[in-house]
Amino acid sequence: MNHYSMLTDPGARYTDNEDTVAADPDQNIWLVADGMGGHAAGEVASAIVRDTFLAQMRQGTPAEEATLAAHAAVVAAAQHQDGLEGMGSTLVAAAISEAHAHLVWVGDSRCYLWRNDQLRVVSRDHSLVQSLIDDGQLTDETARDHPQRNVLTQVLGLGEPRPETHRLPLLHGDWLILCSDGLNDELTDAEIASRLREVAGNVGVVAERLIADALAHGGRDNVSVVAVAYEGPDAESEQASGTAESRAADESRGWKRWLASPPLLGLGAALLVFLIFLYFDRGIG
Ligand code: CA
Repeated sequence: MNHYSMLTDPGARYTDNEDTVAADPDQNIWLVADGMGGHAAGEVASAIVRDTFLAQMRQGTPAEEATLAAHAAVVAAAQHQDGLEGMGSTLVAAAISEAHAHLVWVGDSRCYLWRNDQLRVVSRDHSLVQSLIDDGQLTDETARDHPQRNVLTQVLGLGEPRPETHRLPLLHGDWLILCSDGLNDELTDAEIASRLREVAGNVGVVAERLIADALAHGGRDNVSVVAVAYEGPDAESEQASGTAESRAADESRGWKRWLASPPLLGLGAALLVFLIFLYFDRGIG
């Protein structure tokens, strides 16, 4: 059982909420979807994405295909219902199995990993500013204030999205933080990390605290957070790679083992006998 908390809030500027969050703890699936579109269309799009994705995943469909099915469902709904044309939604989802998080995303909703008091973004935004960062035309800092920071390069329901996936090896105690841009537009990674440090291991309050922080910083958009604490065994690949310290310790242990190996001890002894022989040979001669 992985403990988690999740919450979504319309924010300070809007009364409606186009974001949605969902969990299926039995299947170990969590997600955030951030809808967009006129009138109530954004809400419709994110709800379709949530329901289609979860239904597909429960049937054992691979995450990438489940995401494309969600895209097709949004496209179909937009075609058949008046007022829904042009609607779309992001998706970021994590399915945990066999000590790995299987991530899939489209758009700029994010997945962070919180491990050993360090926060890092695991997903990569499908956004204009992210492409500019990748091209070296923007830095993370200048991107924060870019006027087009909300322009997406991929959305479910529009165009031909290519869902991105990532298989993340987990360690016991890791937290996954899924969020909509309403969180990371208001809070820097350092601010999110400082809040996570403050809750001292209590994942149950994370969603509520981070959303309160986003609202305190202005809450200019709908804001959603899902925080999941991974409580299973360490992934073997992570044990092997380990931290820098444990790797150094392993290497030093390996070195000692090598020195103590029988062939080397034999070689050392032979060398010593040879040196003693040389010494006495010279000394006597
Ligand atoms: Ca948003």
